[in-house]
Amino acid sequence: PQGTTVAKFAELIGVPPNDVIKRLFMLGQVLTLTQSMGDDLVELIADDMGRKVRVVSPEEEYAVVYHDKDEDLKPRPPVVTVMGHVDHGKTSLLDAIRDTGVAAGEAGGITQHIGASVVEIDGKQITFIDTPGHEAFTAMRARGAQVTDVIVLVVAADDGVMPQTVEAINHAKAAEVPIVVAVNKIDKPGANPDRVRQELVEYGVIPEEWGGTNMFVEVSAKQRLHIDDVLETIILQADVLELKANPDAEASGFVIEANLDKGRGPVATVLVQRGTLHPGDIVVAGTSYGRVRALVNPLGKHVDEAYPADPVEILGLNSVPVAGDEFRVFDDERDARKLAEERALRARLAEQETKSHVSLDDLFSRI
Ligand code: GDP
Ligand code: MG
Repeated sequence: PQGTTVAKFAELIGVPPNDVIKRLFMLGQVLTLTQSMGDDLVELIADDMGRKVRVVSPEEEYAVVYHDKDEDLKPRPPVVTVMGHVDHGKTSLLDAIRDTGVAAGEAGGITQHIGASVVEIDGKQITFIDTPGHEAFTAMRARGAQVTDVIVLVVAADDGVMPQTVEAINHAKAAEVPIVVAVNKIDKPGANPDRVRQELVEYGVIPEEWGGTNMFVEVSAKQRLHIDDVLETIILQADVLELKANPDAEASGFVIEANLDKGRGPVATVLVQRGTLHPGDIVVAGTSYGRVRALVNPLGKHVDEAYPADPVEILGLNSVPVAGDEFRVFDDERDARKLAEERALRARLAEQETKSHVSLDDLFSRI
């Protein structure tokens, strides 16, 4: 891991190089302009100088530092994930939300299944990512990806807190993501929303009306009751977070879903987190790369740009990336190809290593 040179780092965070050298010196690190700072130092010094940076792919020598000046940050829509115990109504709630959103958005648009959708309420956008498996969620977080801004926790009012409810709460807490609770199935005879509130208190999820910080909504996904309230509550929660991103940068984000389409070739749905993505951009996503041939939004329309918090399908990659892979735009197609090929090689080597370990173990077990 090489990080970046002192000179490059100073340029990226917009401070005089000598200031960086001084700070380094105070930490007992004597470095010159052209010497490399490791990723740890990059993060430490940036933090020390009050800059927010993110070291991308620290395992690679291509570590990149994103630095956005405050004045470049613009408000962006929230990205929301619906979680909860199996059969508590996650899919039903998302369906209900999508129907509401389509009605509020582009008339006649039919949401395709691309792993994410966009809903509008009172002119405000909300992006929903289909519940990734808990494992995928954990894996993305382990790579430092902030996957979601708000978690909507669905709890069936006739069933209460169950194991996957607790898992979801733990994920939210570990990721420091606020929870909006949708107490679902209030139409059912055995529904007891207050019992759900009481049970959740034991896990630190406390309703605002009881002095806590969590917003609660009582809904019936099936009967489409209070779906607007869910959306309005998400907007309220998102407003508190003051979400921002720099739209005037080369795009980056992560892959939500990817597959090989018979007619269209490799198709990756990505969530743009920073910058603006355009057709013609050169993109690396995991071990895939390519020039963006087309961008397709969740309504199936070709678009000329995708902004922060927009989910969009990318056509034109040379292979199918993996959900959770990071993507970013490159200036130079050769650099993009080099990085993708290096990663692919590393992945193959790691795979071979695993295989040879397995066969050694096999060998020993036979002795
Ligand atoms: P998921 O596993 O969390 O995605 O749950 P689903 O959305 O698949 O719902 C599980 C079952 O609960 C389905 O049979 C739904 O029709 C039913 N269901 C979902 N929401 C409601 C609701 O608000 N009221 C009632 N009565 N049933 C619901
Ligand atoms: Mg489901």
